[in-house]
Amino acid sequence: MCDFHVLHHDGRGYVAHCAGCRRVQAAFGNVVLSLTQEEFEALAKRIAVREEEHAHCRDCPVKDIYLHTPAENMLFVFSGKELLALHEMLEQSRLLLEVKALLGG
Ligand SMILES: [Zn+2]
Repeated sequence: MCDFHVLHHDGRGYVAHCAGCRRVQAAFGNVVLSLTQEEFEALAKRIAVREEEHAHCRDCPVKDIYLHTPAENMLFVFSGKELLALHEMLEQSRLLLEVKALLGG
């Protein structure tokens, strides 16, 4: 039975981690991803790179940043504003997970 611990929660979404199976649930808008810790870290890294590439449009409300998914016919689309919010959420959660690992939990 999973025992999810919330790492981050705000009006846009949340990130929760189960110490038992080490899976991470990341919700943003209407999408929820269920990821292994490795997949979560890879996603956080990928979002960080994309966000940095679009640093010039952090205030842009227009959804024109596409992100491919493992499903060939499904893409995610973000505005610069949304991508920044997602990046901050994932990064804060990733750092918390790192701290937890260092503390042995
Ligand atoms: Zn679990």
